Amino acid sequence: MRKIIIAGNWKMNKDLKESIDLASSVKRSLYDMEEVEAVLCPTFTSLGDVSDIITGTTIRLGAQDVYWERGGAFTGEISSYMLKSVGCAYCIVGHSERRQFFGETNETVNKKAKALLKEGIMPIVCVGEKLDERKAKKEFDVVKDHIVNSLKGFTREDMLRTVIAYEPVWAIGTGINATKEQAQEMHKYIRGLINGIYGEDVANAVRIQYGGSVKPENIKELISQEDVDGALVGGASLKADLFVAIVKGCL
Ligand code: PEP
Repeated sequence: MRKIIIAGNWKMNKDLKESIDLASSVKRSLYDMEEVEAVLCPTFTSLGDVSDIITGTTIRLGAQDVYWERGGAFTGEISSYMLKSVGCAYCIVGHSERRQFFGETNETVNKKAKALLKEGIMPIVCVGEKLDERKAKKEFDVVKDHIVNSLKGFTREDMLRTVIAYEPVWAIGTGINATKEQAQEMHKYIRGLINGIYGEDVANAVRIQYGGSVKPENIKELISQEDVDGALVGGASLKADLFVAIVKGCL
């Protein structure tokens, strides 16, 4: 049985006070939520304070990126053991915005995910095709490339501690979500790829989130799909009532 996981990716939004306010509002509604795992992913500057707010609740903390070295002369970077020290249970890697604006590749995603796993932090590995790739009917090739190369060298145990987020780039921040059929089709394909590499028991245990314009209005139909195990939520995670409604919409 895969536990549903809803993660809020706050992206580069919210200063410290705003982060504290948002986390506190979410906490008021979800502090004892057992059925759905809710994860908040604020900016680096707010991780420590948000961590303090949600400690002792069922809400988990996630970061939005990491660097793969443990420490040293890498000005501006943050490592997995530093994320661990503020209480991160999860970290997003390979988000399409990082692939698009910051030169993230499958190879760097792979290094980052392995560095996280070493510290006991669960990577949320983002994969997904762009609009022109879908129009050219290359979406399965693109996602296969992301999956195979981002997860290269993962052991079975690594795979069991990894969450996949299928995020078609054309659905991120556009208001146009993938239909439940499109999401299910790709999630089933991803599970099949994992099955081919790690076998059925691992494939059946790995959680695959959908991301791209998830809202309270569409979560129910998306989560009703057999292979959709949660959501990575951008815009709607910035308002406590919307994020809480999405989490509760999974019940
Ligand atoms: C995201 O950035 O991961 C995302 C899914 O954004 P939105 O929900 O705003 O489409």
